[in-house]
Amino acid sequence: MSKHEDEAQKTVVACAECGDMYVARISPDGSIRPVGIVNCTCGEGDLNQVRNEHSIEQ
Ligand SMILES: [Zn+2]
Repeated sequence: MSKHEDEAQKTVVACAECGDMYVARISPDGSIRPVGIVNCTCGEGDLNQVRNEHSIEQ
């Protein structure tokens, strides 16, 4: 099993306002950063991590 240092963990975040979901990366320092966006397209609501029991990696 190879392990790359620059391979961030992935998670899913969901907008608290409209429910849209986005892929996010978990930085080594533990912060969660949505991929490709800064805020939800609705402009409202916080992006909260969706608890997933299974890895979303394929
Ligand atoms: Zn939203």
